[in-house]
Amino acid sequence: MNSTYDLCIESPGRINIIGEHTDYNNGFVLPTAIDKKIKFSFKKNENSTICNVRSVNFNASFSFDLTKVEPSKHQWENYILGVVFELQQLTNNLKGFDCVIESDIPIGSGVSSSAALECGLAFGLNELFKLKLSKQLIVELSQRAEHNYVGTKCGIMDQFASVMSKKDHVILLDCKSLEFEYIPVSIKPYKIVLLNTNVSHNLASGEYNKRRVQCETGVKIIQKEHPHVASLREVTLDLLNKFESTLDPTVFNRCKYVIEENERVKKAVNALKNKQLTTLGKHIYETHEGLKNLYEVSCPELDFLVEFSKDYKEVLGARMMGGGFGGCTINIIHEHKIEQFIEDISKAYFNNFNIKLTAFEVMPSKGTSIKN
Ligand code: ADP
Ligand code: MG
Repeated sequence: MNSTYDLCIESPGRINIIGEHTDYNNGFVLPTAIDKKIKFSFKKNENSTICNVRSVNFNASFSFDLTKVEPSKHQWENYILGVVFELQQLTNNLKGFDCVIESDIPIGSGVSSSAALECGLAFGLNELFKLKLSKQLIVELSQRAEHNYVGTKCGIMDQFASVMSKKDHVILLDCKSLEFEYIPVSIKPYKIVLLNTNVSHNLASGEYNKRRVQCETGVKIIQKEHPHVASLREVTLDLLNKFESTLDPTVFNRCKYVIEENERVKKAVNALKNKQLTTLGKHIYETHEGLKNLYEVSCPELDFLVEFSKDYKEVLGARMMGGGFGGCTINIIHEHKIEQFIEDISKAYFNNFNIKLTAFEVMPSKGTSIKN
């Protein structure tokens, strides 16, 4: 591959303050991009339909022909091929290209390296070949790539956050209408710290799709008597409670969690806007309880980190973030306590699980962009 490039793109991972597993239920979320990103270097392959892609992180490369795009048996290649396939449904103007990707986003840790990968590629090819696709189309086609080529029936949050975020803000996103509002993150002297369990239990993608089906099952049953209900977004707790004896207990719990979580997002946004950070933290802890007990997507390592944090009054809130079964917790912590907290919790985590914890502070950052 040639070492001089036509275009460089940076595509970030994301955090989500609150609103977990609500996006694919047409609910509300509060994410933003972070200062960890994938860098893409693109070059046009003039007069050719051949594309060459290299991941520095995986020390792996592959090539494909634009006239024969099909799924691969290597999962990471499917993120690339899926985006190219979806672009081909929208335009005939793609040509051959070379692309090198290099990332400092922890992979498979709930910070959405996958959306960063999809969106950065879609954004880059849009620029490189002047496709004139809107940011919203880039978000939506990237989500379709993950559905159709990777097989994870993800919601829209990760791609939306990766592309649309604004420095020092979070996005209150309505995943049904895609209406959104930027909210300043003024939480000084508190900061956002991620603790990576460095475990990723294999269940993740299968269980994710299962949760989606369980929520849909609840909706279908309620819908029979209440035709206005198109998703859990239209179900109140009172209405759900009337179906407690009809619904399978697991389905009931999944629905209950989602309905409560949508309410929590609204309360958390109020707290953030009014600088009531203790209240914000309380809701973040409540989310973890719901994810652990009702939605059942946590794991012992995540629970340990959240429980441990409760002994520190300087930690306002902590919860697992992302799909679950491993990955990171998000913590809102006083800046003066960060160092001590990380030291203590890393020791305790290692003593319990014999696994090294990784800890890093994150800054709310801008979405996918051209690197000058
Ligand atoms: P998350 O999105 O939370 O990081 P996922 O399991 O959804 O976790 O996505 C991780 C997958 O995305 C990886 O297994 C890999 O297939 C792909 N991926 C992410 N970053 C890279 C990279 N730098 N190089 C190649 N593939 C990557
Ligand atoms: Mg992902």
